[in-house]
Amino acid sequence: MAFELPALPYAQDALAPTISAETMEYHYGKHHQTYVDNLNKAVAGTADENASLEDIIMKAEGPLFNNAAQVWNHTFFWNSLSPNGGGQPTGAIADRIAADFGGYDAFRAQITDAGLTQFGSGWAWLVEKDGKLAIMKTPNADLPMKHGAKALFTIDVWEHAYYIDYRNARAKFIEVVLDNLVNWDFVNANLAS
Ligand code: MN
Repeated sequence: MAFELPALPYAQDALAPTISAETMEYHYGKHHQTYVDNLNKAVAGTADENASLEDIIMKAEGPLFNNAAQVWNHTFFWNSLSPNGGGQPTGAIADRIAADFGGYDAFRAQITDAGLTQFGSGWAWLVEKDGKLAIMKTPNADLPMKHGAKALFTIDVWEHAYYIDYRNARAKFIEVVLDNLVNWDFVNANLAS
């Protein structure tokens, strides 16, 4: 069965003005779709045709890994965002951020630094590893499950994520995503899973 582009959990213009409908048209409608299409081409007629996305990610390398992981990363990114999100954490994750980072401001500073210092394309993550929250950055399609960590939240810092709306200002993009879009309910659900 072929992999499919998952529906967005909100309307394509719902994240505007933080992320414009035009960015979503390209980032979701073209980039994410292309990863799905390339993954389907790569697995067609192979033993991976009926494998789960996670199984392919954990065992594959090279182009197959890149396309499978980018399908997973983007679906996770869209779910990490909400039109009514951002700002201070709520629920259990608020207590864990206080315990493991020393507070929201320290968490925010660390994930911002991870996103800014990821040279070239990649991702900034909030993860749980060995029972503690941590910040990770990964290049290209790399992701926490390859490093024994559970993803809780991510920000895509590939240029295609922000160039239409913010040109080269990656710092501004990270700032407004944290202010306006973090889906803390999704983060809490991941923490509890
Ligand atoms: Mn992307």
